[in-house]
Amino acid sequence: MKAIVFERNGGPEVLQYKDVPVPTPGPNDVLIQVKASACNFNDIWARRGLPGMQIILPHISGSDAAGIVVETGSEVRNVKVGDEVIVHCGISCRQCDYCTRGEEFFCRDFKIWGFQTGPLDGAHGEYCKVPAANILPKPKNLSFEEAATMPLVLVTVWRMLVTRAQIRAGDFVLIWGAAGGLGVMAIQVARLYNANVIAVASSDDKLELCHQLGANYVLNRKKQDVFAEVRKITAGKRADIVFEHTGADTWPISMQCLKWGGTIVTCGATSGFDAQMDIRLLWNKQQNYLGSHLGNKGELVDAMRFVESGQIRPVVGEILPLKQMTRAHDLIENGKIAGKIAIVPNSA
Ligand SMILES: [Zn+2]
Repeated sequence: MKAIVFERNGGPEVLQYKDVPVPTPGPNDVLIQVKASACNFNDIWARRGLPGMQIILPHISGSDAAGIVVETGSEVRNVKVGDEVIVHCGISCRQCDYCTRGEEFFCRDFKIWGFQTGPLDGAHGEYCKVPAANILPKPKNLSFEEAATMPLVLVTVWRMLVTRAQIRAGDFVLIWGAAGGLGVMAIQVARLYNANVIAVASSDDKLELCHQLGANYVLNRKKQDVFAEVRKITAGKRADIVFEHTGADTWPISMQCLKWGGTIVTCGATSGFDAQMDIRLLWNKQQNYLGSHLGNKGELVDAMRFVESGQIRPVVGEILPLKQMTRAHDLIENGKIAGKIAIVPNSA
């Protein structure tokens, strides 16, 4: 099969479109013909290499897939050949005390499929294999392209806002990178909870998308002073929740924008890991600084009910053929895309 493979870490030039063997499913796995996958920032991190994390080489990235089951292992009971499916990308043992408590991300065996798995084990090929436990039915009202762009960002956002930050009606929620893959889901989840969304993005086109998705207020970070605007919008009270994933560039402003007793929740740091913090704010203003990482399969199922009802919809900004993965990396790495990129193999 054709796949996007890299054999060393580096820039987009390390990505090769080449022939590799079709994966062989184990007894508890299923083999999926990939109709569409997605490109996430994880794919950029894997390609660049991350200090302290082993990326297994040669590597096929891709943590989101939608497709058709073409083979099942001998022990698989929950899906059958011909089923249209999507993948939850959190891989864990499903047996330890963390896993059985729904905290699969604390499992000693936890890996994000397509990011930490390998060699040659991700969605960016014509076929992929995944544990049957990670399979979910594709929502019938979505195309394969839409479905493929949904799971990773939706489960991440759901855990951040619903489980961790415990969003409530009326909350003012400041969302950085609001037109990006995480941001478009964050706007919709926050609106689902009748929160007041303050969406921040870097261009007027992106702000228009945020507006269409239901953002109550939109801020262009290149033209406006985000802190001053947040104070104005909230009558000086500032945001109840700040949705962070950008890190070093935005963290000091996120802290400024947070109200007393408010919550910053973060799942990443695409602009850098080192951010200063005045810990007086922690006790004096009794603020909450929460980390969040992906989510469990149950959280994805909870969130998908609202996709099936049409209240949350995936935003596909571009559909690219598999062989143009370099372009997908460029669009994501340089913030040139609104919504998500769906990747389609030739054979799809
Ligand atoms: Zn476990």
